[in-house]
Amino acid sequence: MGRRKKANKPPPKRKILEKLDTMFNCPFCNHEKSCEVNLDRARNVGVITCNVCLEDFQTTINYLSEAVDVYSDWIDACEQANQ
Ligand SMILES: [Zn+2]
Repeated sequence: MGRRKKANKPPPKRKILEKLDTMFNCPFCNHEKSCEVNLDRARNVGVITCNVCLEDFQTTINYLSEAVDVYSDWIDACEQANQ
């Protein structure tokens, strides 16, 4: 019970190794390379925003964090929200 009608599940968590690439596929609208990551190293905040559906997500980063870490945090948050 309590299942929501959802055709598309978010993709499984997976490390995507794309160096110097800050565009990622959107887990909400499923557009490819529509999500852009901004790493604010001064405030230790990473923000990812989809340019298509305008979904966004913010997470704490550290000096080792890369764009892909912000993206994988977002995917994690999406999976938790769907449980
Ligand atoms: Zn989107």
